[in-house]
Amino acid sequence: MRKFLIASNNAHKVVELNRILNPLDIHAVTAKECNIDLGDVEETGTTFAENAKIKAMSAFEKSGMPSVADDSGLMIDALDGRPGVYSARYAGENATDEDRYNKVLEEMKDVPEDKRTARFVSSICCILEDGTVITAEGYSEGKIAYEPHGTEGFGYDPIFITDSGKSFAELTSEEKDAISHRGNALRILREKLLKYI
Ligand code: IMP
Repeated sequence: MRKFLIASNNAHKVVELNRILNPLDIHAVTAKECNIDLGDVEETGTTFAENAKIKAMSAFEKSGMPSVADDSGLMIDALDGRPGVYSARYAGENATDEDRYNKVLEEMKDVPEDKRTARFVSSICCILEDGTVITAEGYSEGKIAYEPHGTEGFGYDPIFITDSGKSFAELTSEEKDAISHRGNALRILREKLLKYI
């Protein structure tokens, strides 16, 4: 199986990436597993795509290994697209997932049902051994709940309601992969990668 270095310490993302890339004979490994120190990479981009490229390029330059990075987040229409690229840092440095989604719920408490539309975005950047850059972006549309539902997944999953009426945190991993922003982005990436490997 080919090894791709994943520029993320988010264990949930690593698992999601591997579920979709493994059938392509690609295994995403963390820097820790490879004994590589990626250091802190500042996400200075203003878009998910820019940040994904910054992270993937930094991992590629430090390791020389084919590298993949995902930058993702939640965009809420009633909040003018927030938390957006700041999804991971929305409630400050040491905040938990719960702190972040509670902040969103508080900001959304007076927003009526029909104005609670939102989407998850995942931008993926993959850099092959020879420096070829492959990118893909995926989306998942939904609505923001009034309270958290479910215990699966991570991040804002408990407050993101899908068309089925269930939150992302109430879906099995297979159900989430089938409709999630990351699943959609990875399926596009997989198609593009097939031309190279
Ligand atoms: P990143 O590591 O800078 O891409 O941070 C992405 C942040 O967006 C995560 O920390 C989560 O808060 C949120 N996020 C991204 N993807 C998901 C998802 O699939 N479910 C829930 N939250 C997500």
